[in-house]
Amino acid sequence: MYDQNNIFAKILRGEIPCKKLHENEHALAFHDINPQMPVHILVIPKGPYTNLEEFNAGATLEEMGGFMKLVAEAASMAGVNETGYRLVANNGADAHQEVPHFHVHIFGGRRIAGRMIKAQD
Ligand code: AMP
Repeated sequence: MYDQNNIFAKILRGEIPCKKLHENEHALAFHDINPQMPVHILVIPKGPYTNLEEFNAGATLEEMGGFMKLVAEAASMAGVNETGYRLVANNGADAHQEVPHFHVHIFGGRRIAGRMIKAQD
């Protein structure tokens, strides 16, 4: 069940601020409040989806396309298209998803140490 009081829902309702990078009808991109890399952007759908399963079950293809388009455009606007970047979506408890609103992290701005994603504790 989607929690209407999660922090990203509050950002979408304008109840708390965010450092917005870009948005379209279906998605919002903003800077992570606790950046782990020189570029650390979050992209969220505007609809009420806790995780990828809910997004898949509830979103229209237009919403899904609009979300993915914003991921690409946000990466471009953040200036990491040439140098590269990593997309991460922590989905559910085993992946330590903290905010229960589906989101993708864009990490970039410097060389990431490992070629493969490591499953760190
Ligand atoms: P996750 O573990 O994938 O759910 O990550 C949630 C992310 O949201 C973390 O990287 C947090 O630093 C970030 N975060 C939490 N609150 C805010 C906020 N108010 N504005 C921007 N980013 C936030």
